[in-house]
Amino acid sequence: MNFGRVKLPQQTRRQLGAAFDSGKLSHAVLICGGSGRARKAVATLLTQAMVCRTPGERPCLTCPQCVKVRDGVHPDVTVVKPDEGKKSGIIRVEDVRELIIRRCYNTPNEAPAQIFVIEEADAMNIESQNTLLKVIEEPPASARFLLHCQQPGKLLETILSRVDAYNIEEPGAGERESAKIRAACDAVADALAAGDEYAAMMATAPLGEKERKYLTGLCESLTSLLRDAIAVKADCAALGRDDAKARALAAKFDLNTLLRLEQTAARSLRDAQSTNTQIKLGYCLLTADLFDAASGKDKGATL
Ligand SMILES: [Zn+2]
Repeated sequence: MNFGRVKLPQQTRRQLGAAFDSGKLSHAVLICGGSGRARKAVATLLTQAMVCRTPGERPCLTCPQCVKVRDGVHPDVTVVKPDEGKKSGIIRVEDVRELIIRRCYNTPNEAPAQIFVIEEADAMNIESQNTLLKVIEEPPASARFLLHCQQPGKLLETILSRVDAYNIEEPGAGERESAKIRAACDAVADALAAGDEYAAMMATAPLGEKERKYLTGLCESLTSLLRDAIAVKADCAALGRDDAKARALAAKFDLNTLLRLEQTAARSLRDAQSTNTQIKLGYCLLTADLFDAASGKDKGATL
């Protein structure tokens, strides 16, 4: 298999390459881990490999089949993704029926198989997953399913047991992510203590707008830091982590304000976990709500 410019952890590359080259790649593949962009790149490459007919190492990336996949116009490739237009953020059962079930028994036009790519497969609700399950369990002869998602834990056990999963997360990526979130959390705390809302908003920029895990991670870190600040303020530092950021927040705000801030961060975390919340908007709401809470304007707080 030709991986082109797609970067993969060595082990995954070996496994995926061996499965493809020996013709043993499962009819249903799940790509998980890594960033959304990386998962998409791997899914595109695999799709190209499946439709490319150039002899030798595939995908060649230059034949008409490969180019059509790259341009998103291949007649035998169907991409299903969360229903962004209607803002529900889920893959609806109607879409699974319409785009997958109704088409997957058809004969492919150009490629050896019809390929169904399901982006953010973890956005399928139970009904959608159960509907998809039927064709994954007893796949039509010429259909291939390529799922990719961030949280495979949200998929039904029955689906997971029928797909071959490949994790594309680079070893050590988890620590780099945590460090990035910690740095943003510290910068937001500094901005909060300095009363600088603009600086707080800017502090979230390095986390990007693509990955929800950074937004939820930041909300979690802020909630935990504010709990530490409350512990410091209430003079029971033993309950929390007595670090410089927590002390700075405790020195700046009174106990009621800290409690309001902590409630706000915890509420933002619940909102951030919902796929209905746009990620970019999530950062704006988080910082705006924190500054409202800091100035006593917070409407949602019960204190
Ligand atoms: Zn090709």
